Parts: sequence; structure tokens; C-alpha cells
Amino acid sequence: MEIIKRLRLQSQLKERPKDETKLGFGDKFTDHMFKMDYYDGAWRQPRIEAYAPLVMSPAAMVLHYSQTIFEGLKCYRHPDDRLALFRPRENFKRFNQSADRLCVPPIDEEFMLKALKELLRVDGHWVPKQPGASLYVRPTIIATEPHLGVRPSKEYLLYIILSPVGAYYKDGFAPIRIYVESFYTRSAPGGLGAVKAGASYASSLLATEKAARIGYTQLLWLDSIEHRYVEEVGSMNMFFVIDQKIITAPLTGTILPGVTRSSVFEVARDLDIEVQEKLLDINEILEAKASGRLSEAFGAGTAVVISPVGTLCYKEKEFTVGDGQVGPITQKLYDELVGLQYGHKKDTRGWIEFVDR
Ligand SMILES: *Cc1c(COP(=O)(O)O)cnc(C)c1O
Repeated sequence: MEIIKRLRLQSQLKERPKDETKLGFGDKFTDHMFKMDYYDGAWRQPRIEAYAPLVMSPAAMVLHYSQTIFEGLKCYRHPDDRLALFRPRENFKRFNQSADRLCVPPIDEEFMLKALKELLRVDGHWVPKQPGASLYVRPTIIATEPHLGVRPSKEYLLYIILSPVGAYYKDGFAPIRIYVESFYTRSAPGGLGAVKAGASYASSLLATEKAARIGYTQLLWLDSIEHRYVEEVGSMNMFFVIDQKIITAPLTGTILPGVTRSSVFEVARDLDIEVQEKLLDINEILEAKASGRLSEAFGAGTAVVISPVGTLCYKEKEFTVGDGQVGPITQKLYDELVGLQYGHKKDTRGWIEFVDR
């Protein structure tokens, strides 16, 4: 399929953010977007056009029954000015897994990568130069058919938008405070937990707001049956370092299979650090803390890469992880991943995909 381009005139281009140190997350967008429609049983009319509001029927199914999925990845500027994507095929593979779960028709993963690169060739000058900043890529699919009966839509819009985002750790690599949620749950076996669906985020808002009100940045979700086993945090997979081993929840269908999570596995292995996937009871973590065997905890996800956790609050009691500072394993993993993404370390694993211009 040929990608049609209807680009803005030079005089219609937006003004780019002048101060890249002041970029936040996800509130500025580039000049163009990629779009493609699905109807009559096929994806059609791939095109790159001006970033603009969408027009759809108020009866569009996504607005009523949340049939929507998304992805999140980043484009980095390397020191030689080349634009680099980090393991983008993994994201498009997962996009299809999400599509399958939400009854959305599958996409051609290689074609999507080609489309994204084409969009980045058009708007590549938006990829920030500032260390730690990047261009966040948000592929999305929404059900657009105007219909109020509950069933999968027969029409969809797929789009990719791009947002320049700032360095997450503006004031240094600082540990966050996490609230262990023992009432609300994020996902149940057989539910949407393993895919990137907007609906999962809608159901997470209330608990996250309540935790924010009492001073916690993020929530650590426990399993929905026994409220004991740690699952994941906000939009990150969660890792604990106990007895110098990294432990994380297994992919049993209730947590998201993060690209960063799998990258942590491989990088840790190369650093001779053992990684274990196992059900980890929150009480086991408290015991490990009491006996001094819990040295570090961190989250991992595209937006933050690695986020050290300094404090956990469970059942009204707060406790410090390790010495409350960034631990050595957390730091090593962060340095290695960020080094690869920004082109300061050699990519020996074929994870970097360049956008040739
Ligand atoms: C996206 C996401 C992650 C992290 O996945 P990455 O591929 O590493 O960005 C973790 N948990 C949830 C719920 C997510 O939506």
C-alpha cells in the first residue's frame, strides 16, 4: 500500500518548543500524523496529513464501549543526529495482541513500522536534542462505526501521533514513593491486564488519585483474587532485588508484557545478575525488608525507562527500600538501557532501528 502525503505548507508549520528543558509529557504534538481507515474488511488509505482534530459520529462505538487500544514507544536522537527507535517491532507485535483481545482487526506489523519511519522522516526535526528528552510515539486504534448495539465495530481509525517529551528525571535520578493498593484491583485473570487497552487505564484512575492525594506517585497493584501477589505499577513492570537477585511477576495474563521488562532481563543476564520470574507475596517483601535482604526496588517502562522506588506504603505502614537511595543494580540497568537508546553504548543485540533519511 502506498502512503499518500498531504503535508502542511511551510507557512503553516507550528512553532516548535524553544526550551527543550521545559518539555513535559504528552501535551505538545508535531505537525503531522499518520492515519489509516478500516472498512469493508480491510485497512485502507494509509496517509500522512496535518495533525488535526478528528471528526466522528457521537455514536462512534469507541465513545460508548471503549473499543480502543494503543502503544507507546520513543524515538531518540543519537550523537551523529541519526534518529533511533528502540525495539519498535516488539511494540507492533504487542499492538496486534491487544487488537486480538479487543476484537480489533490485525495490522501488518512491518507496514506499520514503515509508516512510522515515513512519519518520522516528515517530522524528524521535532526529535529533541536535549539529553534525556525524546519524541514519544503513540499508535492508537479506535472503533469509529456509528452504532449503539454492543458488538465489535466494523469500522476503525488507526493513527500515530508524535509528542516531544522532556527528560523524566529533571532533578536527578530520584526514588519515588509507592502505595501498595490492597482494595482496588487493575486486572483479573481472563481480563485485559496483558494488553494496552484504554479501558484498563480508566479503571485505574480512582485508586491512583486517592494515593496521589496522600502523597504517593504511583500504585503497586496486587493480584485481584488474594490481594497478596505484587503485579505492576501504573505503566511500569515492577522489580524487587532480594538477596542480590532481581525478582518480577511472571506473565500470567494479568500484567503487561513490557518491552522494557524483557530488555531488563537481557541486560541483567549480560551483567551476570540473576533474574527470577515468580509470584511474590507482599508479605515476603516485608519479611525480606525486616531481615535486610530487600536491597532495591524499581519500575521499568518506556516513559521512564527505570524508576527507582525508595518508599513503599502497605496497610498504612511506610517502609524504606534499602537505604532509600538509588541502588547499584537499578543504576547499572538504567545506565545501560539509556546508553543504548541514546547511542552512547554499542548496540550488540540489534535493538536499535534507525530511521534513514
Ligand atoms: C505500557 C505498559 C507497561 C510498560 O511497557 P513497556 O513496553 O516497557 O513500555 C507496563 N505496564 C502497563 C500497564 C503498561 O501499559
